Amino acid sequence: DKKAIKASVKKLVDQKNMKDIVADWKKAIDSTTKRLEIQEYLTSFFKHVIELSPENLLETLYLCLNKVCPEYENVELGIGESLLIKAIAGVTGRTPQKVKDELAKVGDLGKVAKDSKNSQKSISSMFGSIDKPLTIPGVFSSMKKIASISGQSSQDSKVKEIQNLLKSCRGDEAKFLIRSLEGKLRIGLAEQTVLICLAQAFVITDKGYQKLTKAKKAEELTEAPNIIKSVYSELPSYDKIVPALLQSGVRNLREHCKLTPGIPLKPMLAHPTKSITEVLNRVEGHKFTCEFKYDGERGQIHKLEDGNIKIYSRNLEDNTFKYPDVIERISKATNPNTNSFVLDCEVVAWDLEKHSLLPFQVLSTRKRKDVIESEIKVTVCLFAFDLLYLNGESLLKKSLMERRELLQDSFQKVDDEFSFAQHMNVSNTEEIQAFLEESVKVNCEGLMVKILDGTESTYEPSKRSRNWLKLKKDYLSGVGDSLDLVVIGAFYGRGKRTNVYGAFLLACYDPENDEYQTICKIGTGFSDSDLETHFKYLKEKEMSEPKSYFNYDKTTKPDVWFEPCQVWEVKTADLSISPVYKAAMGQGVSLRFPRFIRIRDDKKPEDATTSEGIAEMYRRQFNNINDNDIE
Ligand code: ATP
Repeated sequence: DKKAIKASVKKLVDQKNMKDIVADWKKAIDSTTKRLEIQEYLTSFFKHVIELSPENLLETLYLCLNKVCPEYENVELGIGESLLIKAIAGVTGRTPQKVKDELAKVGDLGKVAKDSKNSQKSISSMFGSIDKPLTIPGVFSSMKKIASISGQSSQDSKVKEIQNLLKSCRGDEAKFLIRSLEGKLRIGLAEQTVLICLAQAFVITDKGYQKLTKAKKAEELTEAPNIIKSVYSELPSYDKIVPALLQSGVRNLREHCKLTPGIPLKPMLAHPTKSITEVLNRVEGHKFTCEFKYDGERGQIHKLEDGNIKIYSRNLEDNTFKYPDVIERISKATNPNTNSFVLDCEVVAWDLEKHSLLPFQVLSTRKRKDVIESEIKVTVCLFAFDLLYLNGESLLKKSLMERRELLQDSFQKVDDEFSFAQHMNVSNTEEIQAFLEESVKVNCEGLMVKILDGTESTYEPSKRSRNWLKLKKDYLSGVGDSLDLVVIGAFYGRGKRTNVYGAFLLACYDPENDEYQTICKIGTGFSDSDLETHFKYLKEKEMSEPKSYFNYDKTTKPDVWFEPCQVWEVKTADLSISPVYKAAMGQGVSLRFPRFIRIRDDKKPEDATTSEGIAEMYRRQFNNINDNDIE
């Protein structure tokens, strides 16, 4: 009952009791699946935190987002099921097998923890409470500790720390705690929603405003989320944004939080296209350019004001220790007048003898962590395609033409190590076709077609923009783009595939409902060694029951389920309506003749192709020109 909840929240605020507000809010949010209602609760919750307990806002935000720090610190939650089962068993006096059986019945380890905890006659309930209640900073710092512990006997230390938290849990807390540790809070809060609520909460509290009229406030409520979202895409660090917000509110945020070397920005993404005609229709009347689309891994290279050099992945993870060779060579490629910068480039596997590009598959065999330069087997070459920051100044608002000029003035080619993305300013179908053929011949994926001049050619962080179009060779027949899907189940193999999985169940991600929706069964495109690799990796992730956030039809039930843990790139002949698969906003879209291409290590399950993306692709089959952006 919304009214009652509002009244009780108000009462609690009057009593200035943060702990009860948290409990009340969680209950409210858990009792609805309606997005707008959830938003309303969260906004009012943030408002209370800003007013009553601003020093806890940062940790509160992280807990809502189920994160412990920005991506580039490379510390993540996502504790394995078996470790959590061990911790729950230890605290509740049950055997791990009993907890597992319970899990098979209920399908949510959080619920299992809560039920086991609540039905248990603990020492504290017999002799009065001896465990201190949980607090936001306390839970946050324990979670951060759990996520960061590594090395020998780290498992035991993690279990101990989790058990300490569990012991203090009351009511629903164990449920949310375990879900958080699993890395999946599942209260229907996508990051964008959290940002909207945070922005609106600041407007409601009047922070940073001189008395707003009613009309002006309504305007600000609409505008503030846009400001926070755009600032966050340039500077994705709550550690920086929250203190600035607390100091002077949303209105002035842009002045305090700007692109900063050392904090990776969310990269601009490209829009898929299906034909050269579609490309030409889009760019008609604009100056545009074509670049080779290199087939490697995106690298965002930062040189900080203090001279330090860092490289970040597409997902904003710190890849500096993966590429010591890249860090080493940057100064050779940098001109003397170039100090701080942010460079957007593709890191591609490189054949030193033939001086030529190697396909992505070669790069994927390179070691990922703690790489020692003298032991590197897969050499790489960098292909720079954009410059986003130079000598203390952001270039995001400059046109691509200006950015490209600055890029070429600030860096120089170094044979076999550093180069600029090959480009050509073409104008007609034949020229694009010829350049596309040329790119494919040298092991590129195709072309990137970009608007070169004017306001539409600025760099748009985090946006899948129609000012960047990708044109792949195989787009010219079949579906416009490959899909990135999550493997959530497998079917036992037969015949030649007896000792491995023979086929897999794939799903797309729906951020609206925070669920994985099945899209197809796939058994094609795998080499024998692919199948062995998948078996080895996925065996560890097996679950006998599906997660409650898998949306599937029982006729497509696989032999085993997996925790969502890996993204695969898949190609398909086309998309069709299906009565049994659940992809694309409940319409049920499936893939025809899906074929496995590769593992996408640089994407997390939540970065998989979205339900909306699939719906869009389906629609595009019937309509060459698409006017809607996919965000
Ligand atoms: P997306 O990032 O768009 O979700 P994706 O990761 O599968 O999808 P693609 O859509 O295939 O990537 O293409 C965009 C990627 O292409 C960039 O993230 C970048 O790594 C790579 N790339 C290669 N060459 C270029 C170039 N000249 N300009 C921009 N990006 C390029």
